[in-house]
Amino acid sequence: MTITASDLRGMITAISATIAENVSMLNALDSALGDGDHGTTISGGFAAAAEQTASAASPFDVLRLTGMTLMNRMGGSSGALFGTLFVQAAMTVKDVETLTLQQFAAMWQAGNDGVMKRGKAAPGDKTMVDALSPAVAALRQSVAQGETMEQALRAAAAAAAQGANATTEMTARHGRAQYVGERAVGHMDAGAQSVALMFSAMHDYWKGKDDGKT
Ligand code: ADP
Ligand code: MG
Repeated sequence: MTITASDLRGMITAISATIAENVSMLNALDSALGDGDHGTTISGGFAAAAEQTASAASPFDVLRLTGMTLMNRMGGSSGALFGTLFVQAAMTVKDVETLTLQQFAAMWQAGNDGVMKRGKAAPGDKTMVDALSPAVAALRQSVAQGETMEQALRAAAAAAAQGANATTEMTARHGRAQYVGERAVGHMDAGAQSVALMFSAMHDYWKGKDDGKT
């Protein structure tokens, strides 16, 4: 089982489609805690990234171009953070043509570390990190247990969704949501929900690939 540049392109396209279907939901989540633009911003970013990476030939190019495009198109703090996620992931696959599941997990670990360093948010702070960190932990556990890519992505998507749901009960220490204080409780973080959608879309992509094999 290897992950190719074509698979990574397929995953970016799948993420773009899933995020596009959820624009209003993501905007609504961001309205409660921030300025209501998260869905519009991130869907524009991933649509552009899917376009820009259409002919990217290596895993490094797919991930780096995605990161750069998200930074440029999304702008603001979330553009920098989602961009950093993919740019830091890219740095781990510089001279690699295909990835193992272990490399795929390490790649997201590096992305997660980059986001945490740049945004200074830790788990529990009601940000995208609350979905990302559990997803990465699930990937690493799947590696340790010798699971397939499909199983690993299924577990990561479930962990990210659970992490995103858990932000509902949190108050925020970063971003615009910190200004609503206790009123944040009862609302899920939009960025965390986007991360959950990302992993769900990547799982859908891989499952579709597995199903097509039979
Ligand atoms: P903006 O806040 O600039 O309007 P978005 O609305 O696109 O950006 O994104 C908001 C999301 O960004 C939040 O839901 C949160 O998940 C994430 N976020 C904000 N600040 C940080 C941070 N310091 N670290 C990690 N994630 C953050
Ligand atoms: Mg916003």
